[in-house]
Amino acid sequence: MTSPATEAPAVRTDTMRVAVMAGVRDISLQELPVPAPGPGQILVRVRATAICTWEQRSYSGAQHNKFPFVGGHEIAGEVAAIGPDTNTDLKVGERVAVGSAACGRCHWCMTGQDRACKQHYGFNQKYGDAWGPGGFGEYRIQVADGVYRLGDAAYDVGALSEPLSCAIHASRMLDLRVGQDVVVLGAGVMGLMNVVAARQHGARVIVSEVDPNRLAMAKRLGATELIDATKVDPVERVRELTEGRGAEAVIAAIGHEKANEQGLAMLSDRGRFVLFAAAHPEPTFSILPNETHNRETGVFGVISGEKQDFYAATRLIRYGLVDLSPLIDIRYPLAEIATALDHAVKPGTYRVIVEL
Ligand SMILES: [Zn+2]
Ligand SMILES: [Zn+2]
Repeated sequence: MTSPATEAPAVRTDTMRVAVMAGVRDISLQELPVPAPGPGQILVRVRATAICTWEQRSYSGAQHNKFPFVGGHEIAGEVAAIGPDTNTDLKVGERVAVGSAACGRCHWCMTGQDRACKQHYGFNQKYGDAWGPGGFGEYRIQVADGVYRLGDAAYDVGALSEPLSCAIHASRMLDLRVGQDVVVLGAGVMGLMNVVAARQHGARVIVSEVDPNRLAMAKRLGATELIDATKVDPVERVRELTEGRGAEAVIAAIGHEKANEQGLAMLSDRGRFVLFAAAHPEPTFSILPNETHNRETGVFGVISGEKQDFYAATRLIRYGLVDLSPLIDIRYPLAEIATALDHAVKPGTYRVIVEL
């Protein structure tokens, strides 16, 4: 649990500390002006930011990024100020998560598919000559519709609203039904978020993973069947578990050529396969058109939650309908962000939290 807001250092309204990544394994704190929220915007005092793979890969150099960069897109904090003419029922001091926004007017918004709205990634901000989602800074601005109430939820768990919203999006895109057979490939944080989300939909969740610790964590978070992929063939095992049909949904939460091949091979008729993870370098992936046609299977990608998914994620966290605290390994203050990132890139870690 994070410390309550009253124990946090006094809020400075003039300048803020921001951790700027100047290059690979090169991050330092800068003192920058606190931005003022404009019309329709909310200024959030960031309290906890979870380190996701984007920040890890940018820091380690595993994924190319544009520097200087201010990472941190899994953000919880409190409302510090509300801009003029802002349509919100939030009050200064309320706990919030910073999440998906949308313009409300474009084709994608008007058809309820706001992930594709240009404002969805209105997430990125300017910090001097640096850019980024900004969770590694003490304040950030967000348009009001991208700020979500967290109630009394702890900031660290609240920061996991964003990854949970991605998994809720996958479950919703899959239209999961009660009792359906769902396979999650890979039980890293995002695989585990998918376990949590699919369980909320009443699915039977089969997890395939090579690491026994991660399998144990999957069980703890609600997985109903575990497959140790080092010991048994996951495709055969899924067929056994499903009376030979295969799974109605497979979520590949690991970006790996072999996982993709296995995932396709374990799909049932009408089954749908979700590419949930990016892979660097990008592997090839091929489907058989006739087989896809004959069996009415489908493949699609999921990257990010829409507003309704983010709202649902914050409600699950706010009302204690899910417990994501096992996914938090350790917390570091902003001053130790380099140590936090070094910790986060170690294999076997779940989420590392930066407290601000
Ligand atoms: Zn993330
Ligand atoms: Zn829009």
